[in-house]
Amino acid sequence: MAREPGIEVDVVVVGTGAAGLCAALEAADAGADVLLVESESMPGGSTNLSGGIIMAADTSVQRRCGLTDSAEALYRDYSNLNQGAIEPGIVRHLAENSGPAVEWLQELGVRFLDHLVYAAEESVPRSHVPTRGGAGIVKVLLRAIKERGVDIALGKRVTDLVVEDNTVCGIRAGDETVRAGAVVLAAGGFGANPALWTKHLPSLAAAGSAAWYIGAEGSRGDALRLGAQVGADVVGHDRCLALLTPGFYRNLEVYFPGWLVLVDRSGQRRVDESTSYASMEMAHRRHGPFFAIFDAAAKKAAQPGLPLQYKQAVPGMEAATNSNWVEPLLDEMIALGKVAQAPTLEQLANAVSIDADGLVATVRRYNGYAGAGADPEFGKEARFLHPLDQPPFYAVELRRGILALTSTGLRIDASAAVLDSHGDRVPGLFAAGECTGGVLGSVYVGSGNSMANCVVFGRTAGTSAYAFATAT
Ligand SMILES: Cc1cc2nc3c(=O)[nH]c(=O)nc-3n(C[C@H](O)[C@H](O)[C@H](O)COP(=O)(O)OP(=O)(O)OC[C@H]3O[C@@H](n4cnc5c(N)ncnc54)[C@H](O)[C@@H]3O)c2cc1C
Repeated sequence: MAREPGIEVDVVVVGTGAAGLCAALEAADAGADVLLVESESMPGGSTNLSGGIIMAADTSVQRRCGLTDSAEALYRDYSNLNQGAIEPGIVRHLAENSGPAVEWLQELGVRFLDHLVYAAEESVPRSHVPTRGGAGIVKVLLRAIKERGVDIALGKRVTDLVVEDNTVCGIRAGDETVRAGAVVLAAGGFGANPALWTKHLPSLAAAGSAAWYIGAEGSRGDALRLGAQVGADVVGHDRCLALLTPGFYRNLEVYFPGWLVLVDRSGQRRVDESTSYASMEMAHRRHGPFFAIFDAAAKKAAQPGLPLQYKQAVPGMEAATNSNWVEPLLDEMIALGKVAQAPTLEQLANAVSIDADGLVATVRRYNGYAGAGADPEFGKEARFLHPLDQPPFYAVELRRGILALTSTGLRIDASAAVLDSHGDRVPGLFAAGECTGGVLGSVYVGSGNSMANCVVFGRTAGTSAYAFATAT
């Protein structure tokens, strides 16, 4: 490490993703002597791999696009979608500081497109798309960190917290020690450590090898282990963002093309197939498993290179997506038996063990909606409504498989202080980002939810940690 053992800094920040970099910057700007410690040889964690989209309300970007929004509206949407699963004080802090977070990032040099996208079904789009993805945000934050002379120790995995008089006062990385007035844990999630899925994500662990993680290698759940050393509470059991997939191969496709028809085991539709992944996840939790059904005409129309039939085009995402739903790949999967094929709907239903009468009735109604150009059951847009009447018919089961992030983690309060199992603060310990629980709720609200958490609570953690360090 750049520091000699025993040397003291005001604030040590563990992890160099969005949460850690924001914490370090705010602490440094408040006047702290800061050390950033990163286990990997490269900074950036999962943030570096991400789209960097940030959910925020009442921003200059929204105003430039002629949109009127408010922190209050975000607070209400977020609380409603999470059905009371998050403490109001946490939601209020997230909502009120999301707009200022976007302004702060812009002042540092992050650029956002004049094209906002919807996270879920909110009344005003508030997911801000950066021009250069998460890697661009990391680059800007790292530049600002370097300008402030903050040291970054790469390749140093923090193994322990130093604790004296029940107060966290430093970290150890192997046999090296750094003493600090306060410590911020921003060590990311635990997606890369499937051993922890069994305990913290049992519903995904049940998927076995059908589920895979798309984030950074450093997401090993170290914050859970470090927090346990000081009795930190862990909240948000079994919460994560696990996207549905046919599992053809390990790609990342977050939306379904609107022309698919999804049914449950009873053969009934339960959701607008083109909806956001938050709504899809909720519907699947209630009614899953889901089966994607299509016919020969839909398969033939799904040619590579054509615009993907998603409800919303996220700038940059379409080009990056390797879709599962293109004819050559579907033909390959049919030949491998991964997609069932049958000359009639009844035979198709029997092949994948769904109710044949239910499926036939659903498709009869659906074809009527296609003829009328309106879906009175789920409100899917008319452009996606095509009759399923060209045999053969096809079906494939969708499973929760793509683990994008975990949201079971250390409990914090609105000042980003880590809490113990009695709800009391652990003196000297703060946390932010994916390693925390209780900020992301029972459902992932949609694009930008996690980055909003990282930037808002990362900034707060940096400020709070320095205030604690100077007060003590
Ligand atoms: C492909 C992809 C796309 C995504 N797109 C979006 C998006 O557009 N919008 C959005 O909101 N979310 C998105 N997410 C999720 C989001 O990017 C992450 O949840 C977020 O970036 C996590 O940031 P973080 O700072 O908490 O953790 P990370 O960015 O993962 O950083 C944590 C850092 O801590 C380090 N670390 C871990 N343990 C230790 C230790 N013991 N000692 C020292 N260092 C340690 C890690 O190596 C890592 O560098 C996406 C995720 C993926 C994988």
